[in-house]
Amino acid sequence: MAELEGLEFGKSDFVLLDEVTMEQFMENLKLRFDKGRIYTYIGEVVVSVNPYRQMDIYGKETIEAYRGRELYENPPHLFAVSDAAYKAMKRRAKDTCIVISGESGAGKTEASKYIMQYIAAITNPSQRAEVESVKNVLLKSNCVLEAFGNAKTNRNDNSSRFGKYMDINFNFNGDPTGGHINNYLLEKSRVVQQQDGERNFHSFYQICWKNLPLFKIRLLFQTSNNDRSSHKAVMNALEVIGFSKEEINSIYQILASILHLGNVQFESDGESVQIRGLDAVNLISDLTGTDKEIVSKSLLYRTVATGGGEVIEKGHTEHEACFGRDAFAKALYERLFGWIVGRINAVIEVKDYNPVLHGKNTVIGVLDIYGFEIFDNNSFEQFCINYCNEKLQQLFIELILQQEQAEYQREGITWQHINYFNNQIIVDLVEQSHKGIISILDEACLTVGKVTDTVCLDSMDTKLAQHPHYTSRKLSPSDKSMEFKKHFRIRHYAGDVTYSVEGFLDKNKDPLFQDFKRLMYNSANPVLKEMWPDGQLSITEVTKRPLTAATLFKNSIVALVDKLACKEPYYVRCIKPNEVKSPVLFDEARCRHQVAYLGLLENVMVRRAGFAYRQHYTRFLQRYKMTCEYTWPNHLMESDKEAVEIIITQHGFQDDVAYGQTKLFVRTPRTLFTLEQERTAL
Ligand code: ATP
Ligand code: MG
Repeated sequence: MAELEGLEFGKSDFVLLDEVTMEQFMENLKLRFDKGRIYTYIGEVVVSVNPYRQMDIYGKETIEAYRGRELYENPPHLFAVSDAAYKAMKRRAKDTCIVISGESGAGKTEASKYIMQYIAAITNPSQRAEVESVKNVLLKSNCVLEAFGNAKTNRNDNSSRFGKYMDINFNFNGDPTGGHINNYLLEKSRVVQQQDGERNFHSFYQICWKNLPLFKIRLLFQTSNNDRSSHKAVMNALEVIGFSKEEINSIYQILASILHLGNVQFESDGESVQIRGLDAVNLISDLTGTDKEIVSKSLLYRTVATGGGEVIEKGHTEHEACFGRDAFAKALYERLFGWIVGRINAVIEVKDYNPVLHGKNTVIGVLDIYGFEIFDNNSFEQFCINYCNEKLQQLFIELILQQEQAEYQREGITWQHINYFNNQIIVDLVEQSHKGIISILDEACLTVGKVTDTVCLDSMDTKLAQHPHYTSRKLSPSDKSMEFKKHFRIRHYAGDVTYSVEGFLDKNKDPLFQDFKRLMYNSANPVLKEMWPDGQLSITEVTKRPLTAATLFKNSIVALVDKLACKEPYYVRCIKPNEVKSPVLFDEARCRHQVAYLGLLENVMVRRAGFAYRQHYTRFLQRYKMTCEYTWPNHLMESDKEAVEIIITQHGFQDDVAYGQTKLFVRTPRTLFTLEQERTAL
């Protein structure tokens, strides 16, 4: 609750607003943005507005100013919550996590990097080599993951196309000993298709500087100077992390073969399908260490087991061949990405940790995951991403309320529940077994025979017609946005989203012919072979009912939420000030919308419903003892608690506070304001 900046910069904590209204909230947010104050608190939550310009607030001096300090001792900053999380971890041996949310371009990834840099800067003062090397790998992993998992989109030139959760492990000294990265739902469809104005993953453009056969690849025309310098940084990062020369070569060979797959064209004479020209196939075979004949064959045929147990080869139609090729390209990239993450994890994994010898192994988790998405055309990916946000919002509500309640209970203070919208009902709509959307999708995917997206939609419409957060197209024939008859709508906590069901089943089933897997498993390149262990299965051994993409995603998000729920949470809520990356434009309507769906007003209310402000007696005394003659310079009471009671009573604030076991609780911010003003006036 720092008022250290002076009132001309607005209120540094939204709980200090005179009234919690959208108008006041927005006014304060805008004022602070205009004055270059991009961070503001709601209690311990940091609200951050993307400045779209380099700020001089992340350097060594700032780090030192925040190091070891309490939240309210300095102006709001990411470093203050990072330090709070670090202190909780170090002093109280608590596992903590920092959850960063906000829409695309709001500044999540940048925030996560500053947080990591801060933690790296304040740890290992004795410069022990093994700790330095862990820190180095943790920091360098960002660069590699961004190259392979980020892309230029219409919203963000460096948009993360995957979700990332990173655990950093600490020893009893509070020094990092290792970590673990979990990645979620890489947007692999980008490998074969991008919207106008967007690019493929950065890695594909960085490949120009490799000595690889890359002719006839159109995409490379979009390469820029930036890609060149990034490429150097990525090569350096890969080496620092410990990738071998062979591994690095393999990575780029795989990238090149994916590019050449994009050049494979098919033609049909009405009877059979052929590959047009064999240049691309030959290059793919060279790059992947596989047999040319088998590459061609895998692209044109699939092995199937008949009901009678016979194994036959079935020629693709042209459409199937294209579908298979694209699925192969996407899977190659997805596995490459997963393999890179796995390799980094193997390096930073905490080895030989002995809790008896080394004390509790504590963790700070940092979550940088895609925010809520509403596009013109929303598909399966947006459905998954928005479901993930519902889960995280649910956790936010639970934890924030839970925490408040726990604290009031601990301190022996009576607490009254406040109303908030509980989005559990939407979470259920998506994930409930048998009745939820994912179950209905899975059922359709498992049905043998021709089930189309529209048939699946029919089933959803029938089963979910009564659900208050689901709009069936049948119920709203007059609705313009439903006119294509292939849409359904979910009323998310963050707003209504209309999804086009087209492609849902394919994306959910996510099939890849076993022939491709076998082809890769039989590669002469050991790295590639390692990525495709399931290629050793014969067609009769392959499971007929693999888990669907939606179910896999659901399982990974449920596991993530479980992981976060048992940690002490810190939140960074990022806001994107405008659509044009301007450092001076505060688009009021856009910001208001984000404030609304991030539930920030509710957050302030929850924080204020009970007590807006709480402080340990000793701290409070230190800060305000000069405002009272009985406590300045020292008091003669039995305890700091009694001294604080004297200050409060002398100012006439006794009706506005409650005395907990160890902390003073203040109901209205005005009380604090007055004290602050008196303090500065002295
Ligand atoms: P996505 O969901 O698309 O990954 P994001 O929330 O991770 O988006 P970032 O990539 O972190 O968004 O930020 C987008 C851009 O905004 C950055 O590339 C940078 O130019 C600018 N930016 C964000 N935060 C800051 C900051 N604190 N200081 C300066 N520039 C920033
Ligand atoms: Mg990002």
